[in-house]
Amino acid sequence: MDMEQELRSRLEAVQARVAAAARRAGRDPAEVEIVAVSKTVPAERVAALARLGIRQFGENRVEEAEAKIPAVRALLGEDLAHRISWYLVGHLQSRKAARALELFDEVHSVDTARLAARLDRLTAAQGRRLPVLLEVNISGEATKYGLPAGSWPHDREQTEKLYAQIEAILSLPHLNVRGLMTVAPLTTDPEAVRPVFRRLRELRDALAGRWPGHALPVLSMGMSDDYEVAVEEGATMIRLGRAIFGPRL
Ligand SMILES: *Cc1c(COP(=O)(O)O)cnc(C)c1O
Repeated sequence: MDMEQELRSRLEAVQARVAAAARRAGRDPAEVEIVAVSKTVPAERVAALARLGIRQFGENRVEEAEAKIPAVRALLGEDLAHRISWYLVGHLQSRKAARALELFDEVHSVDTARLAARLDRLTAAQGRRLPVLLEVNISGEATKYGLPAGSWPHDREQTEKLYAQIEAILSLPHLNVRGLMTVAPLTTDPEAVRPVFRRLRELRDALAGRWPGHALPVLSMGMSDDYEVAVEEGATMIRLGRAIFGPRL
């Protein structure tokens, strides 16, 4: 099987599963966008997937993106390259923020108010507005990045702290906060992470109720092992690496 055929059959299988999960939840499958996470995947494979119609790509490291994004663009040619969006989905160190803004269209891993403020300053200098997602650490794992949700909404003090951070970020004039993102714990049982996805949606609903000017329509949650559960719980964006590209080398 050649590369294009192989990618197409994986992509079609994923799309069918997304559609079935959406229907189970009474949702329109068109509400769910697929972001192909292309970390460790060579530029040729990424370009082949773009030719199959995928338009949104995620990378988790600035260094890797630095080489790959221009390589993919060159393979695709200007017309198609212009229709592709690149999202940073991994932790961003402050000192790499300026470089990230040159490479990426959106940052989906804004995990501190401090990083948000820095991105806002850098974006102001470019005379644009940067679309972002706020990464929330729902599961509370110490190894995870994200604004800590703690035992939201049960611990009053923690909840006030979380809301204060989010309010500070929402007030930044050069960021457009489109919604929330989370990374669920690694598990072999997708049902085990259902409560994580459900809580992210409930948090989004609470925030949108508290700040009605911010609808926060995007919920980026679900990866290769758990995207169907995420779709059932309201994901509008799923981030898929292995399910589309195959095992990482
Ligand atoms: C790698 C990665 C993904 C995709 O992981 P798969 O399990 O291969 O689907 C999604 N989100 C983030 C933040 C990642 O780093």
